[in-house]
Amino acid sequence: SVSVTLKNISKVFKGFEGQDIRAVDDVSFSVKPGEFVTLLGPSGCGKTTTLRMIAGFETPTKGKIMIGEGDVTFTPPWKRDIAMVFQSYGLFPHMSVGNNVAYGLKMRKMDREKIKKQVSEILELVGLKGFEHRPPSSLSGGQQQRVALARALVVEPSVLLFDEPLSNLDVLLREQMRVEIRRIQKQVGITALYVTHDRTEAMTLSDRIIVMNSGKIMQIGTPNEVYEKPESKFVASFMGKIAFFPVEIKAIMEDRVKVAIKGKELVLNKEIEISENLKYVLGCRPEGLYLEAPGKGHIEGKVLTNVYLGNYVESYVKTEFGEVMVKTEAGVSDGFEE
Ligand code: ADP
Ligand code: MG
Repeated sequence: SVSVTLKNISKVFKGFEGQDIRAVDDVSFSVKPGEFVTLLGPSGCGKTTTLRMIAGFETPTKGKIMIGEGDVTFTPPWKRDIAMVFQSYGLFPHMSVGNNVAYGLKMRKMDREKIKKQVSEILELVGLKGFEHRPPSSLSGGQQQRVALARALVVEPSVLLFDEPLSNLDVLLREQMRVEIRRIQKQVGITALYVTHDRTEAMTLSDRIIVMNSGKIMQIGTPNEVYEKPESKFVASFMGKIAFFPVEIKAIMEDRVKVAIKGKELVLNKEIEISENLKYVLGCRPEGLYLEAPGKGHIEGKVLTNVYLGNYVESYVKTEFGEVMVKTEAGVSDGFEE
């Protein structure tokens, strides 16, 4: 497998009135050989455009794209050694599953017996052993997506690109396919770049996540880093539920920090380096808060609703500073009223 590197990539489209649409704005990153990296961000932030430039379907307005050591910025798609899996499976409806998968190999004029063997091996890899003679229309959505994946993998590309491949599947199937894609990618050892707006999908699949907004990269990190150490309010909120309170820094101790929210003082664990000269907001994740009887050094609040979700309970709490959600393992809390 090989690396993929983008250096200062921008893409500007022309709108109907001739105005500039800056879809991708000075994006640089590198995917290591065999790594699974996800571009994550809201709709319209430039994920698909970035992927299409790597595939060669769009030419960058500025910047350079490298696959391995080679500069492919202006190389046509079919010379890039890349395969892509789309949301709409893109199977040929009149061809059997086997012929769909064999298509790329036939184009390469591979020997018939060899094709047969390779198709059957790849179908086994994606969990569709013996499906060669079925028409695609007889398969479920999840199975059709597996055929699309098999068709992408069979030509042994160096890089695999995915554009929201699971968006058309129902929730259960989506969860199952996430795990499957991850297993297959690691087994084959291929370099993978995946696009989604779904943070759970990104967390499940990725070695690293690239969070994008408005054509720009907001942060690059492991799932743990972007969740636990977000560098902006945007990344913090995009990765999961969080409430923000502006705080005043009162005193910095070795592993604690004294802050004031609207004049009320609290002592917190020091999770990051804190400078006296900067302004801070306190971000509270639901699982980082807990409910207790009122006391000194607590934020007081009233539980508005408890939502029971089996393994945990979500409590919506109106505090003196604003609303927060508190997540408690079911059975742990007795449900204090305040
Ligand atoms: P995402 O995949 O993150 O939803 P896209 O890359 O599809 O975002 O789009 C990014 C921005 O570029 C959007 O504002 C979109 O409308 C615009 N865009 C994408 N393709 C074109 C195009 N061919 N012509 C004009 N604008 C485009
Ligand atoms: Mg898209």
